[in-house]
Amino acid sequence: MTKRNNPDKHSSYNGHLVAYACNDKQSIGRRFNETHPTYRNEYQRDRDRIIHSAAFRRLEYKTQVFVNHEGDLFRTRLTHSLEVAQIARSISRELGLHEDVTEAIALAHDLGHTPFGHAGQTALNNCMKDFGGFEHNIQSLRVVDKLEQKYADFDGLNLTFETREGILKHCAINNAKKLGDIGLRFLDKTYPSLEAQLTDYSDEIAYNNHDIDDGIRYGLITMDSLLKIELFREQYDIVNKRYTGLDDKKLIHEIIRRMINVMVIDLIDTSRKNIAKANLKSIYEVRNQKQPLMAFSDSMTEKKLELKQFLRKELYQHYRVHRMTKKAADVIDALFNAFIDDLKILPTEALEHCNILKDKHSDKGLARGISDYIAGMTDRYAIVEYERIFNPRQLSFVNLIP
Ligand code: MG
Repeated sequence: MTKRNNPDKHSSYNGHLVAYACNDKQSIGRRFNETHPTYRNEYQRDRDRIIHSAAFRRLEYKTQVFVNHEGDLFRTRLTHSLEVAQIARSISRELGLHEDVTEAIALAHDLGHTPFGHAGQTALNNCMKDFGGFEHNIQSLRVVDKLEQKYADFDGLNLTFETREGILKHCAINNAKKLGDIGLRFLDKTYPSLEAQLTDYSDEIAYNNHDIDDGIRYGLITMDSLLKIELFREQYDIVNKRYTGLDDKKLIHEIIRRMINVMVIDLIDTSRKNIAKANLKSIYEVRNQKQPLMAFSDSMTEKKLELKQFLRKELYQHYRVHRMTKKAADVIDALFNAFIDDLKILPTEALEHCNILKDKHSDKGLARGISDYIAGMTDRYAIVEYERIFNPRQLSFVNLIP
């Protein structure tokens, strides 16, 4: 029988929150006051609202790197978000931080992404350049603050400040000025909670590693080329020493799981030292530090940079990825221009949304309404919508039914 490890030997987590964690009982609060939930804390309520949102369900059909329908095994925004939540919760728990708010931030962090990943976001940003631009982080906040329409008492999901603070990872200064309390830290150059900081790192750990896995599966990168990368080679050597004759599928998994593990351990160890040095007494002190306390060691930062540069060159800029993203960008561009030229082709609900925003903010509002409609589309919905509008073979009424 396998000898079981003593869990206490491997984790310093004792079930208590540290004094500088997000605390659901001392939350800065929600935009609209509500009674406290029963049998759940405030951050669990946030997480539950996110999981039950339409935007969360749409993540299943949105591209991470590879367009959604290209293969059933590739990561989608949904599976990516679940992987981020898994990594973030482990780190949060180990550091005595609030696991529930961490999970809520992780599950919501990509809600504002357009269809077709970064190509879609760049295309939509170009379309919106005269109307305030498009940033997926701000769009994620817009989804949870305004666009989800299901509660009787308020627009959006009415999440706590701490979850919203974590969702808004980056923000241009001009946009931050319009966002009230949640945008202040970009003007003051202060930092968010440790839960928000670590979720941002977990996002990076997740995509750097799963993009290797997807890239190999798609045949765009090879094991041989990856052996030039120190982070990969170190784990390859360890696995190869321990096992002989592993098939490629098991070999790559054994390497990637170890890569995730060493990055997580490095992040925890380095951040723990930073936190100890800062001698924190409250979350207010976390927010007012001169630099973020969550960090990789210098050597891991270097290795991670090498990996990111590799992925940029070999994967994200591969001609086959470019061909796909070019088409995707063309779809977004064509849809935006078709809608702005002729509002009458917008579905009723989208048109109503655009008209409400137009009444408030004229042309800028109108364009924002169209951008909301397009950003909310899944990959396949955007393609179908494009077909409906531009393919003359789809002139029959049946094909026009949404
Ligand atoms: Mg992400």
